[in-house]
This record gives sequence, C-alpha cells and structure tokens, in this order.
Amino acid sequence: MTQQLLQKALDALEWADNGYKEGEPIQAAIQAAIAELRAAIDAPVEPVAQPSQAGEPCEWTLDDDESGTWASSCGELWSFIDGGPAENRVAYCHHCGKRAAINAKGADHG
Ligand SMILES: [Zn+2]
Repeated sequence: MTQQLLQKALDALEWADNGYKEGEPIQAAIQAAIAELRAAIDAPVEPVAQPSQAGEPCEWTLDDDESGTWASSCGELWSFIDGGPAENRVAYCHHCGKRAAINAKGADHG
C-alpha cells in the first residue's frame, strides 16, 4: 500500500536525520529513503470508486460562490478556479464515482 511505503520512506528520512545529528554517515539512509519514495511513486494507485451509470446520481450544489466551492451529496467539497462543474465538464463525482448531477440553483456565473 502506498501509505505504508510513504511511512517507510518517512522512517528512513527520520533515521537519516537522527544519524546526521549524531555525526553518523547518512548516505545509506538517504538512499534507502529515496528507494522507498520511488517504490511509493511506482505503486499502482487504487481507485476510490469506479465510474457508474447505475442508481441515483451524485448531486453537486454550489456551496460557496466566493471561492467557487461545490458540495457533493456524498459529502465532498471541490473548488474550481474558473467556472463550475458544468464549465469544467464534470461528468462523474471523483469521490463516489456516480454520475454527477449539477444543481446550478443559486449559482452566479457572472
Ligand atoms: Zn459523489
């Protein structure tokens, strides 16, 4: 799991940091940390959810017009730099994987 690999890399970096403070050679520990980080980067990313057409869609509503933040009915927040989910071609919710239903009620696209 990526989380475990990152933890091992962090442990190796902390070990290297401690070794440095004690005047010990740190190259081996740094190389170990680099190897752990490379393994973490190369590890396959497990999808949170698979796209699904079935069942109820996930409804996205404008949560904060000022920051461009939208709230999904599955409990996530998502901010857009420019425009909303429709303008940014959101088709599926990134959290639950259901089809996104954009509720533009109250949205101001001026
Ligand atoms: Zn969702």
